[in-house]
Amino acid sequence: MSIVAIVGRPNVGKSTFFNRLIQRREAITDAVSGVTRDRHYGKSDWNGKEFSLIDTGGYVVGSDDIFEAEIDKQVELAIDEADAIIFMVDVESGITGMDEEVAQLLRKSQKPFFLAVNKVDSSKRENDAVEFYSLGVEKYYTISSINGSGSGDLLDDLVAALPDEPEVEEEVLPRFAVVGRPNAGKSSFINALIGEERFVVTDIAGTTRDSIDTKYNRFGFDFNLVDTAGIRKKGKVKEDLEFYSVMRSVRAIEHSDVCLLVLDATRGFDGQVQNIFWLAQRNNKGIVILVNKWDLVEKDNQSTKDMEAYIRKQCEPYTDVPIVFISALTKQRIYKAIETAVEVYKNRSKKIKTSVLNDTMLPIIEAFPPPQYKGKYVKIKYCTQLPTAFPAFAFFANLPQYVKEPYKRFIENKLRQQFNFTGVPVTIYLRKK
Ligand code: GDP
Ligand code: GDP
Repeated sequence: MSIVAIVGRPNVGKSTFFNRLIQRREAITDAVSGVTRDRHYGKSDWNGKEFSLIDTGGYVVGSDDIFEAEIDKQVELAIDEADAIIFMVDVESGITGMDEEVAQLLRKSQKPFFLAVNKVDSSKRENDAVEFYSLGVEKYYTISSINGSGSGDLLDDLVAALPDEPEVEEEVLPRFAVVGRPNAGKSSFINALIGEERFVVTDIAGTTRDSIDTKYNRFGFDFNLVDTAGIRKKGKVKEDLEFYSVMRSVRAIEHSDVCLLVLDATRGFDGQVQNIFWLAQRNNKGIVILVNKWDLVEKDNQSTKDMEAYIRKQCEPYTDVPIVFISALTKQRIYKAIETAVEVYKNRSKKIKTSVLNDTMLPIIEAFPPPQYKGKYVKIKYCTQLPTAFPAFAFFANLPQYVKEPYKRFIENKLRQQFNFTGVPVTIYLRKK
């Protein structure tokens, strides 16, 4: 899926615009998953073309007195990671030095960018926008993020510039993405895994020129490692900022089947790791948590248990995730890590026969039916797995709207107990029968 980044200095209206574009879809996602969401990353679509949208400014703290260097990095990263960029300026404040700086960086890059002059809420302001030609663009788009006007023209041209989705690849190998915050040990893990010999068989071009799957045969398993731009361009941006690791992870996560989330045992499961975890979860990807640098931890016979309990607490309510304690340095359990990823891949591709599903689930539901709601009985009559790439199930009922989140969670847990979906998000829908 293509990635679109919104850049611009603080207060021009980036997050207002971002929210407008993702609102409709976010409402749906929230109702289904009920979990934390990231306010700066979401999915949107226009003219039938879907894209991921990132409000880069949202990840940069400090708002008003933002440093110029900071915005340079924001734009540089957007240029590296996105397929197209929306450059937003503010007609109220007019052109500032920082706008000129950003325009210059964008003009130098090869990335398509679209200048959005925001806060054009009236026709008078339409005329004021003319000054923005001096940023060296052939065209700009006047928009109002508050009332939505003008965004159609912008989006028409934006999606036209996005690369087309590739044909479905014939070869189906598990795709594993190694993700995590900077310095967690991702490259060390990959190096430990592929060793000196580099079992590279072929390079397959991924969805865009920035993303490459590399095929490996290791420990008797065939799989593709989804290379992130971050791994290849290592060293360019070293900053330990949430924004960078999340943005670097987006493409790899979307492009993968299973994410190997590497975390540094000496640092734990902080907010930044959580963001990446939920990004994978919300994209319905398989997840394996690799607690790396386990060699550095002073251990007693409780350490593994304690660490595991702590991580599961952070992942609530989605706790059915495998956790493997590894050391990329000593190569401890790196085989186990790959083996677990393969298992998770299988869980994610699992298809349960409808007859087996009904024979298993209906008696459980009958024994513990949904609670009465407004004096009405809900009767679930039938269920089936949907033909999606990740596990999703439809349960048909007379009054589906009366089945609330806790009961859906109950169904999910029973499905997990009965069929083993460890490491994969499971989606439950209730439908009218
Ligand atoms: P960001 O820092 O670039 O993400 O900017 P915000 O989205 O937080 O917006 C900054 C301020 O500009 C807020 O007070 C918004 O209400 C206001 N704003 C955003 N879009 C518009 C618009 O189209 N018209 C007007 N008049 N105000 C806007
Ligand atoms: P990345 O930014 O996630 O790719 O992290 P790196 O692979 O560059 O590792 C960051 C630092 O942690 C380097 O100094 C590594 O040598 C060190 N490191 C990585 N894995 C381990 C490990 O399992 N044990 C120890 N002790 N150090 C590690």
